[in-house]
Amino acid sequence: MPKFSKRSLENLKTCHPDLVKIAAKAIEQIDFTVIEGHRSKEKQKENLKNGTTKTLKSKHCEFPSRAFDFIPHPFNGWNDTEGFNKVGETILECAKELGILARRGSDWNMNGKSEDEKFYDGPHIELLTLEEFKRIKK
Ligand SMILES: [Zn+2]
Repeated sequence: MPKFSKRSLENLKTCHPDLVKIAAKAIEQIDFTVIEGHRSKEKQKENLKNGTTKTLKSKHCEFPSRAFDFIPHPFNGWNDTEGFNKVGETILECAKELGILARRGSDWNMNGKSEDEKFYDGPHIELLTLEEFKRIKK
């Protein structure tokens, strides 16, 4: 059974308890690394500048963080869509089983498709409030 690396554990310390629950359940089924949890405002501004994000209102900037980014393990590069999807789907499945609302940056509008996303963010997982969930699903 896979278990978290030191890096993952350090990053999870900055995450909301619900995210930790989801990740802990998922790691029992598939191996991945949590590469980022909480992110400073400064880092977020940098990311906006270099185009790895589209917003300054990221859930990474909350504390505890309501978002984390993962990479599959073994890591076969950023274009390993299949690897990212396998982990991402497992994580979302675990969230569902735990009754925790979450979505992935590969499907912001939660319609089950990635092709219609303007900004595809495969490594990104975030928590949703019930209000956010209702707004998206409307
Ligand atoms: Zn992210």
